[in-house]
Amino acid sequence: MGRQPLWRRVDSVPRVNYFKPAGVPMSDLEEVRLSVEEAEAIRLKDIKGLEQGGCAQKMKVSRSTFARILLSARQKMADVLLNGKAIRIEGGNYEMSVRRFRCDNGHEWEVPFEKMIKEPPELCPTCNTADIVALWPTGRGRGMGGRGRRNWRRPTE
Ligand SMILES: [Zn+2]
Repeated sequence: MGRQPLWRRVDSVPRVNYFKPAGVPMSDLEEVRLSVEEAEAIRLKDIKGLEQGGCAQKMKVSRSTFARILLSARQKMADVLLNGKAIRIEGGNYEMSVRRFRCDNGHEWEVPFEKMIKEPPELCPTCNTADIVALWPTGRGRGMGGRGRRNWRRPTE
């Protein structure tokens, strides 16, 4: 495993990112952190029912890496449910499948993940200005902007 972060592609970030058992005071709660890519692994494999190979492809990782992410996610979820812990879903090494950009003149456009890692955009495709910013993150008005940004691209482990 190399030292540079390995970005995993995710199609969605869970809307609700915190669960806790009923009737347990926060001060007594142990918290488990599930990374966004672990949540995505569960979503693809256990909710959508895709085969492991297909899941790995979607997330742009090898089968063995996917298996490791999935196992870790399942262990955490089991720990949370059976041991009455809280779970927070955030952070990890992930990229949304589409990144949205905006230029100074107000044009907005989306760049697919694959293109994004090969050649990040430098100019607005409409007016060719170089004054462009990436909108963080790409979730559409889901309101995780401020809070999520802190963990954006922060490596796990
Ligand atoms: Zn423009």
